[in-house]
Amino acid sequence: MDSSLFIALIIPTLSGIFSAALFLLARHQADRVVERAAWSYAGFAIGMSLQYFEPFGFELSRFLSNAIFLGSMVLLSTALMARHGRRAPLGAMCAITAISLTVLAAGLVGEPNLALRVAAASLGFAAVSALLAYKLWRAGAQTLVDRLLLGSVAFISAGSVIRPAVIYLLQGGLGTEQLFFQSLYWLSLVLSAVFFLSVIALTLISSASLDTIEALRTEAGTDMLSGVLNRRGFEQGAIRLIRKAERQGQPVSLVLADLDHFKQVNDHFGHACGDAAIRQFAACLAARAGADAVVGRMGGEEFAILASGTTAQAGRLMAEGMRMGLSVCELDFMPAGRRLTASFGVAQRVPSDTLASLIDRADQALYAAKAAGRDRVRVSAEAEEERDGDEVAAPLRAGHRH
Ligand code: GH3
Ligand code: MG
Ligand code: MG
Repeated sequence: MDSSLFIALIIPTLSGIFSAALFLLARHQADRVVERAAWSYAGFAIGMSLQYFEPFGFELSRFLSNAIFLGSMVLLSTALMARHGRRAPLGAMCAITAISLTVLAAGLVGEPNLALRVAAASLGFAAVSALLAYKLWRAGAQTLVDRLLLGSVAFISAGSVIRPAVIYLLQGGLGTEQLFFQSLYWLSLVLSAVFFLSVIALTLISSASLDTIEALRTEAGTDMLSGVLNRRGFEQGAIRLIRKAERQGQPVSLVLADLDHFKQVNDHFGHACGDAAIRQFAACLAARAGADAVVGRMGGEEFAILASGTTAQAGRLMAEGMRMGLSVCELDFMPAGRRLTASFGVAQRVPSDTLASLIDRADQALYAAKAAGRDRVRVSAEAEEERDGDEVAAPLRAGHRH
């Protein structure tokens, strides 16, 4: 048995494994990027097998092998451009492919011409990948994944020209037709293809997997009805916000908001209208919460807004804005003259507060707002008292700096 068989099987095996992995991953992916990449790797596997095993005779197998290989590169280009929401320049790529295959065919018929075929295939492959690299660069390579893909494609393009040229110059030729699979050119082609096929596939697989994990994490922390965070997402976001504010010496305040007499809304207008009211209420709160604030649905029609750089007084103003904003919120199902109101409890965090104790104090303030007749804002008395004391000095001093 011939060692060239093992070398020839490296790319079909590797591409086949990557193709299977990409197909598996594509089943969980909303976009077509991974699926297209999976097909293109299947193409690389088939193209390379045809090249070595020649099932349709020498000429046809070589022609099909190169056609499938170039076609797979064009397909991979559409996959990589789709990551940026853009189209690959299919017209130009197909034209390059057609020219490359025409010249290649000329090197197959009559007296076979290896140098002409290598030149046609390499330059065609280099031109398609150079065009892809240019388009990826124009689309903007911001992330590490973008840069890895762009770098790989650029290297593939440069390598497809430089590798055969260097070997041609070093050896005074590329090898003979008979001993092609033992040639240095073939070995160098297989090894560089292994490297870049692996880099591109592993980059695509890891970035798609990370995207999926991120999407699941976001979904697990999001309330489906209102679109803001759910309780779990809120608590995670709140802990991060408090840590950051502590580092920066910023004050933090919590606003709890609860719709008034919401049971009656459900009773009079139905549960679907109740849901619509919850959605509008959430949108109204989120719009006034500021970009850095964490907004979450704590359950039912009760929401929490945690804002950094916000003292109790600033929190009160924010809650007042939300309360008045709600009164101008048009709810189509409410009869004229009847409006939806909400009550608000505000508490500023003191250094000894845990998230639970802060929520507890804001809840007491909310209860006081309900007890005082609803449709109003109350600030936690404890925060007001401590405002004059020494304990909250650190965050408040920082607050006064502005
Ligand atoms: P209060 O002014 O004291 O807050 O009165 P309330 O009627 O709002 O009292 P409470 O907070 O106890 O009632 C909340 C109601 O919200 C009870 C429940 O039927 C309703 N609710 C909870 N979750 C949902 C939901 O997802 N959709 C709808 N439509 N209603 C909900
Ligand atoms: Mg209520
Ligand atoms: Mg409630």
